[in-house]
Amino acid sequence: MDARPNSPEARDISYHMHGYTNARKHEEAGPLVIEKGDGIYVEDLAGNRYIEAMAGLWSVAVGFSEKRLVDAAVRQMSKLPYYHDFGSKSHSPLIDLAEKLVQMAPVPMSKAYFTNSGSEANDTAMKMIWYRSNAIGQPARKKIISRIRGYHGVTIASASLTGLPNNHISFDLPIANVLHTATPHHWREGLPNESEEQFSSRLADDLEKLILAEGPETIAAFFGEPIMGAGGVIVPPARYWEKIQAVLSKYDILLVADEVICGFGRTGEMFGSQTFGIRPDIMVLSKQISSSYLPISALLINEKMFEPIADESNRIGTFGHGFTGGGHPVAAAVAFENLKLIEERDLVGNARRVGAHMQKRLRELASHPLVGEVRGVGLIAAVELVGDKANKTPWETAGALGGLVNCFMQQNGVISRNMGDAVAFCPPLIITEPQVDEMIDAFERSLEAAAGQVGSPR
Ligand code: PMP
Repeated sequence: MDARPNSPEARDISYHMHGYTNARKHEEAGPLVIEKGDGIYVEDLAGNRYIEAMAGLWSVAVGFSEKRLVDAAVRQMSKLPYYHDFGSKSHSPLIDLAEKLVQMAPVPMSKAYFTNSGSEANDTAMKMIWYRSNAIGQPARKKIISRIRGYHGVTIASASLTGLPNNHISFDLPIANVLHTATPHHWREGLPNESEEQFSSRLADDLEKLILAEGPETIAAFFGEPIMGAGGVIVPPARYWEKIQAVLSKYDILLVADEVICGFGRTGEMFGSQTFGIRPDIMVLSKQISSSYLPISALLINEKMFEPIADESNRIGTFGHGFTGGGHPVAAAVAFENLKLIEERDLVGNARRVGAHMQKRLRELASHPLVGEVRGVGLIAAVELVGDKANKTPWETAGALGGLVNCFMQQNGVISRNMGDAVAFCPPLIITEPQVDEMIDAFERSLEAAAGQVGSPR
């Protein structure tokens, strides 16, 4: 890093507190300052170019230099830079986007509701569910079940839904009424000789036991990502969602599909719900909705949700919830154009085709001594690294090897992210096969560099 007192790096250390960063270590190491983007690449201040193997934060579907999104923003900014949807106000970008999303939904949905982030959308989903429970005369139905290692955001309610220690420790979370059930990770959690399907049955039984122990009349909803993203890219085992949904419908429990990462093509279908046969009552959408060029998120809710909520708002006088920036016209216009691009360029088909190549290349590494598991679907994957393959245990401390490989990847021109020892790949949906090869060649070189250090004293 440039250590001169007035360098951008030094000013970042002086003035900026980062998300998801060790604030003390940052004072020593400083930031990587990204200056510009071009397709799947980004460039830092020193002019080093990197493949953005995480599409930013799982989100820049169309790449980092899409002029049509810039033009859409400028057009809308010049015409109507801001408006809202409170008190029955509306505007064309919001109406266009709401119609488009409801029409795109893989199951019948009634309405789109707009928010600004995945966290806000999940908070809103939880509030809508509680509101509905009161509306249908079942005020005891307030408990929500999510999963260990699930990720739903960082606001107070959504961080409570999230099932990761770093989001709870020292934040005094989770709040009451949130319960966590098991992670569907067969490789890590399956019993010896237990098939994927048997494992799925066991998790569905565990869920049912939890519901019965708590009292089914107290459970309102289940939140889950089709594939768990930030928890380590955990692909559900065979028939998992079918078995979980059977339990939920038996007790009339709502299902929320958090499609914030999977939505808009990531899995090789438009939605992860299609890939896994999920029939949600609420879909939570963000990230690739606008390729994250501007912040925007949305909920799609079905009739079962909307009708009682509408009646309750009529009884009270209003639906007392909404965000100043919800459905922001510039963000909505950019999202609408982005969805058109995803369709016109068949980026979902690209995720399927190029994703198959990425999955094949990664699976070729499965026999490497440091590779425990390779998992993924479409253009999302993770390679979980281990120190001891037979026992699936980490090298030195948990996350040390993942961090090391991630560091080498950056030196090799690829920005990736390690969630503990799981190194993730989630590139822009526009990536080509040769670019996948470039990314995975760099990963292989990084793995070899790490292998050279494993076993040698540090
Ligand atoms: N849900 C999922 C599945 C996510 O991956 C994320 C973000 N990584 C969120 C919710 C939260 O979104 P945000 O960071 O926009 O609040």
